Amino acid sequence: KKRPFLFPASSHSFSSSRHGSTLVVAEHDSGAVKPHSLSAVTAATSLAGNGNSSVSVLLAGSGPSLHQAASHAASSHPSVSQVLIADSEKFKSPLAEPWAKLVHLVQQQGGYSHIIAASNSFGKNIMPRAAALLDVSPITDVTGISDAQTFVRPIYAGNALCTVRYTGSNPCILTIRSTSFPVPQKSNDSKAEASISQVNLSNFDEALIIFFWISADLNKSRYIYQTSQDDEGPDLGNARVVITGGRALKNAENFKLIENLAKKLGGAVGATRAAVDAGFVPNDLQVGQTGKIVAPELYMAFGVSGAIQHLAGMRDSKVIVAVNNDADAPIFQVADYGLVGDLFEVIPELLEKLPEK
Ligand code: FAD
Repeated sequence: KKRPFLFPASSHSFSSSRHGSTLVVAEHDSGAVKPHSLSAVTAATSLAGNGNSSVSVLLAGSGPSLHQAASHAASSHPSVSQVLIADSEKFKSPLAEPWAKLVHLVQQQGGYSHIIAASNSFGKNIMPRAAALLDVSPITDVTGISDAQTFVRPIYAGNALCTVRYTGSNPCILTIRSTSFPVPQKSNDSKAEASISQVNLSNFDEALIIFFWISADLNKSRYIYQTSQDDEGPDLGNARVVITGGRALKNAENFKLIENLAKKLGGAVGATRAAVDAGFVPNDLQVGQTGKIVAPELYMAFGVSGAIQHLAGMRDSKVIVAVNNDADAPIFQVADYGLVGDLFEVIPELLEKLPEK
């Protein structure tokens, strides 16, 4: 089925025939690009090493923090040649529909060969919608890039890795697992920072009307409010140490043992789905197939059985320590260090003996 032609060539604000160029759709907060999105820049850079000539970063929102984040993006990696900012109240709230339309618009203007975002709730929400608007199939949860068309991604809850080759038309849309692509270190490279330009949004509303007609009502979702954990600890997705508790903690009060240990080790708190479903902790702490994917230096699991769906979210951790009172618990099959014991004895002892961080 042919899509209607949306934008006349004269409305393109930058080159419409780029070969081998990548657009990173990035998220920002408090004037900085979020670490997940910086990992997407790393992935884009590895495409650049596979023949793609340039990396552009797209940021949207409004106010001074957007411009601060643009400066951050411009200096994030020498391979970033351009930062595009869409400065509008339309992108102030993280609603997927206007963002997907924005990605579509920027693709029309820039003709990228690849578009990448992190595989977190931001990327998972926007990229499939953008792919549908662009009439291409996205490749999700990429953990490795072999060349500009060949990607590795986990299947069967992480029990197998599949190498897929993209044979569709441009753009090739990817979401990447940020745990597989390190956040780029700020380089001392003398290369000039990337240029920062504004996205031409003059066609944006026109595009909305056309898509309203062909696809969905944009008013289907409505921004109400956003809350965040008022927790001083590191972000679960990027923490170097993660301390996870399972159903065995029995209640929210006991879960404080996990929180105290995490605080002592400077780590983030994680939980199994059973612990979340039982209401011990909020669901943004869930690790696993339907929760967060983590790969810290140290992952400690207390009273976690090691169900396949949980392992899917943490099996790439560098060192896994498990404490469980059942010697046959499957978590021991992936653990580097295992202790068969009662967590209600082990955690207090650790809290007592570990030095303050
Ligand atoms: P249990 O399986 O009940 O294990 C508790 C463990 O604690 C047991 O091994 C027990 O021996 C041990 N224990 C008990 N008392 C003590 C004690 N005093 N000291 C030490 N050890 C003790 N789960 C996730 O975690 N993340 C996901 O993203 C996820 N997604 C899912 C998606 C789907 C589609 C489905 C079907 C399931 C999903 N699950 C997920 C659920 C998953 O299958 C398991 O049910 C869940 O992980 C079990 O959590 P648990 O290990 O806390 O509880």
